[in-house]
Amino acid sequence: MDGNKRKWVVLLLFLIALPVALLTYLSARSFQSEQRAARADINLLVPALQQALYQRLDALSASADQREGSALRGIGYTIRLDGDGSFLHPRYLPMALSERDPDFAAAQRRGEIAEFIDGDLAVAASLYEAAQTQARHPREALENFNAQARVALARGHLEQARALHERIKPGTALDPDGSEPLSLSYLRLAHYSRGEEAVVLLEEWVDGLFSGAYPFSAGTPYLLDQALSFTGVRGRSGALRQKLDRAKRLLYALETYIELQRAGLISGAVQTFSALDPEGNSLLMCLLPQSDAHALLLVYDLPALAEHLLQTPTGQQLAQRGLTLELFDSDHTARFALRHRDVAHQVVPASAATYRLRLGIYVRDQALVLQSYRRRNFMFTTGILLLAAAIAGGAYLIFRDASREVLTARLRSEFVANVSHELRTPLTSIRMYAETLLLGRHRDAEQLRDYLQTIVQESQRLSRMVDNMLDFSRMESGRKTYDFAPLNLGAITQRALEEFAPLLREHGFAVELDIADGLPPVRADADSLHAALANLLSNAVKYSGPQRYIRVRLWRQDHYQCIEIADRGIGVPAEDREHIFDKFHRAANSGGSAVGTGLGLALVQGIAHAHAGTVSYRPRSGGGSAFVLKIPQQPT
Ligand code: ADP
Repeated sequence: MDGNKRKWVVLLLFLIALPVALLTYLSARSFQSEQRAARADINLLVPALQQALYQRLDALSASADQREGSALRGIGYTIRLDGDGSFLHPRYLPMALSERDPDFAAAQRRGEIAEFIDGDLAVAASLYEAAQTQARHPREALENFNAQARVALARGHLEQARALHERIKPGTALDPDGSEPLSLSYLRLAHYSRGEEAVVLLEEWVDGLFSGAYPFSAGTPYLLDQALSFTGVRGRSGALRQKLDRAKRLLYALETYIELQRAGLISGAVQTFSALDPEGNSLLMCLLPQSDAHALLLVYDLPALAEHLLQTPTGQQLAQRGLTLELFDSDHTARFALRHRDVAHQVVPASAATYRLRLGIYVRDQALVLQSYRRRNFMFTTGILLLAAAIAGGAYLIFRDASREVLTARLRSEFVANVSHELRTPLTSIRMYAETLLLGRHRDAEQLRDYLQTIVQESQRLSRMVDNMLDFSRMESGRKTYDFAPLNLGAITQRALEEFAPLLREHGFAVELDIADGLPPVRADADSLHAALANLLSNAVKYSGPQRYIRVRLWRQDHYQCIEIADRGIGVPAEDREHIFDKFHRAANSGGSAVGTGLGLALVQGIAHAHAGTVSYRPRSGGGSAFVLKIPQQPT
């Protein structure tokens, strides 16, 4: 590639790269601005959602005022508080440790030594039984019954343990160590009972917690977790699991409330406040003072509230855009952002009345969004690549055309030089022989005949050349007409060969003719076929080497009649074979052998096509060329 050409290529590449880069930049920008617009759209919906939440909370607290257990969904638990802030329903035993009576403590201790150190359960059972008489306080009695029940179960006395459990039931107090004997007893009995029986026991316990028959205490969540891990419960997805779980949430709500109150964060008449429970779940509560000096503490069901918001007209607009929402405490914001970091999300205050509560809006179907993002990217990229390919393709075509033009111009000028030369050669001989004859310089009658013969041959060659050129120019401009008529190819081949006979003889060619018998006539134009054959024969002569031989064959193959003209001449170099039928094209090895115009084979091909036939070249083994002209028997 020379310097100039390289400059053009660089310029062209730059011209392609520039619009591609510009398009890429613009499409990326448009995507970004669409995302901004989507976010702005979300922001437009936010005030309506805040308003809807505000109204819903209002409606819920109003309905809770009238009767406990609102018909509206959105309240998780309703807790009743005494005037002094202690829990009336459900019940909750605040953590408390107490002193044991010394005699009871000593008696109980003896039982514990037998049970845990000596491992003598029978002795432990009788020692604990004796210690019961020392109990001075209900909490001591409970502690003792619990120990007795424990030993009874360890000894396999299930009935006795059940009887002891019934004695623990009425006492709902913490023992001196601060643990709650009744819950422990329920759990232990369930643990030793089988399948259904265990489930019934646990259900009874947890129902008691909800109804207020049994109190919650600080250790309850641990016991509830234990219950959830029992084999009989683990496999169940049903009511009991949910109840145990709900009980845990309720207890956490109670404890969170206690914490907030202790921290002085709850005051005033009506207050809605949000916080995280000990497990990190968001809680929204509302304290409603009642006329009877009691108060109600509503624990909202945040997923149900979010669901309600999604049902509002604004929520539905969100859903249509593939978005959804969540309500959570502001301390949960970082976790929310982390969870939805891969998709567009937005966190805003949930409403005017709930100062810590947040509304998180995020793309629900991440896969869908990613997919659509990828699809867009793919479309943009493909579009840009197609555009680049189109520009490059166009540029290539222009380049190719331009270089073709250059090539044709070169071939044309060579053609002009060749034509002049070709015309001059026969003209010179004609003139030379004619002048010789005119001056009467021939020796005898035979020489006279020779000279005249040469003049005839050269003028034939001249007129063939002129015919060729006229034919070619007619063909190029589409003016060439054909006169199709039934034609015997054998006869026309023979005629062409006869015309060349003197020339062939003169140059010492051995000629072999092989015409198949009984071939039917084909529809063809006699003059053009003659011209085609004359061109092929003339080439065979022109491009012959030392071995002067021509074979002409005519045979039938399928629906064609084939005429082959084969020689033992110089042949066509491999790189020229597909171009020799192009106009003006001359093979690299042709110059030395003969002058020519490069029109002959183009003309032959034009004639073959006009007959719905073909012409082809094949190199011969042993050297030389073979050209086959195929003419259909029934041209369509
Ligand atoms: P030209 O006037 O050059 O003969 P043609 O179109 O008849 O033009 O042929 C094109 C080229 O094909 C020739 O220049 C020559 O290189 C090659 N060619 C044609 N016929 C033969 C042949 N019988 N043997 C070898 N080369 C041939």
